[in-house]
Amino acid sequence: MKKIAMLGVGYVGLVSGTGLADFGNEVICVDINAEKIRKLKQDVLPIYEPGLLELVRKNVAQGRLSFTTDLKHSIQNSEVIFLALPTPSGPKGEVDLSYVFNAVNTIARVINGFKVIVTKSTVAVGTGDKIRDHLLAQGVSEEMFDVVSNPEFLREGSAVGDFMRPDRVVIGSRSEKALEIMKEIYRSLYLIETPIVATDIHTAEMIKYASNAFLATKISFINEIANICEKVDADVQVVAKAMGLDGRISNKFLHAGPGFGGSCFPKDTLALTKIAEGVGLHATIVEAVIEVNRLQKLRVVDKLLALLPDLKDKVIGILGLAFKPNTDDVRDAPALTVIEEILARGGRIQAYDPEAMDEMRKHFPDIKYVASSYDVMKEADALIILTEWNEFRGMNIDYIKSLMKNPILIDTRNIFDPETIMEKGFRYDCIGRKIENRARITGEQKR
Ligand code: NAD
Repeated sequence: MKKIAMLGVGYVGLVSGTGLADFGNEVICVDINAEKIRKLKQDVLPIYEPGLLELVRKNVAQGRLSFTTDLKHSIQNSEVIFLALPTPSGPKGEVDLSYVFNAVNTIARVINGFKVIVTKSTVAVGTGDKIRDHLLAQGVSEEMFDVVSNPEFLREGSAVGDFMRPDRVVIGSRSEKALEIMKEIYRSLYLIETPIVATDIHTAEMIKYASNAFLATKISFINEIANICEKVDADVQVVAKAMGLDGRISNKFLHAGPGFGGSCFPKDTLALTKIAEGVGLHATIVEAVIEVNRLQKLRVVDKLLALLPDLKDKVIGILGLAFKPNTDDVRDAPALTVIEEILARGGRIQAYDPEAMDEMRKHFPDIKYVASSYDVMKEADALIILTEWNEFRGMNIDYIKSLMKNPILIDTRNIFDPETIMEKGFRYDCIGRKIENRARITGEQKR
């Protein structure tokens, strides 16, 4: 059992902190956002993540998990300090490490004994070394700390399961002592034979970027295949299924859709191209992945325009705002692009998401948010499905049609059967599946 301070109580920090407490460690989660900590102390989660509240309650009740805004106290009372801080894109797409180094400065000021400083944030390759140099430059002696890279691979929406039963744990360290401490922290995972990849810090940092870029590549790849399928009268879902049956390919992340979003793939792919640039290389594949993704989001709007060319004063229903189901996260979500493009053409939006409306309000305070899925369709000139929440799958097609002014449906998650929808008299488009007389997209050349 180790005493841990988790700096940053966001999607990663809260799940990891709670998970590490459940593994038997004593974890104090610290955030500079007093509102988040206030909520947590009152048993309210600042994010939506299935299964998390129960785990937080259990570990708080058993005395292993607590929340505070007091950085100094948390750092001084812990042997291991995890950094689960934001690492957004900087102005040129490079990773912005200012949050990380702010926290490192605080550590330098208050350090009172040996600490293992662990980057859980996704950080540029070489950041571990920079943290070390920075601490030394601030007068912290070498014996007072070790720096470790322990990248996180959880997925929002299934974060608790991903953290508690990971495919692997990556630990980058130059010190045996720090490695042993990390192994102790994760000891529960030995029981379920989780592979631990112990390596150097640069390699650990690179593993995270390579993994995310590869997954993003799979998504952009299948989206590109979907677009070709539309032109050659093939069905991307059958293509993806058959591809996925090949063990070398696997069926994961092979779902054609409106493009990837979220807090990781967009910024991490961009950061990887900047890391490559920094060493005189072009990450050609990753650059293409980013461009395919940009176009894919716009393609959703092109599909709408093909069916409804003039959006002026038209009411467009948007079903699903989060970048994927089971989260309230809208960072870089396709919905942001789609809504912006529709508003720019004079359209009006009415939107619904089971969890993400509060987050979307921060971006678009003036669009109309409604209370249920069916309210989105009322008097709508067209409907776009952008997130495949389970509750959307079972919707009654006849009822949807009866509510809409114009039965136009763009199903970017391929949740409905095209034949059924078209038999019901909808004008319809989806991503990469066969439909008769698909409306021709004319907009893609100009982008
Ligand atoms: P987030 O924005 O949800 O949370 C970060 C938290 O850090 C915020 O609550 C913020 O208030 C807090 N913070 C900022 N400065 C602080 C400081 N000096 N001291 C204490 N708290 C501070 O971010 P996130 O989505 O949890 O991502 C964190 C890191 O993990 C990023 O590097 C991200 O790339 C990486 N990551 C994210 C995911 C994911 O699915 N979200 C998955 C794997 C890795």
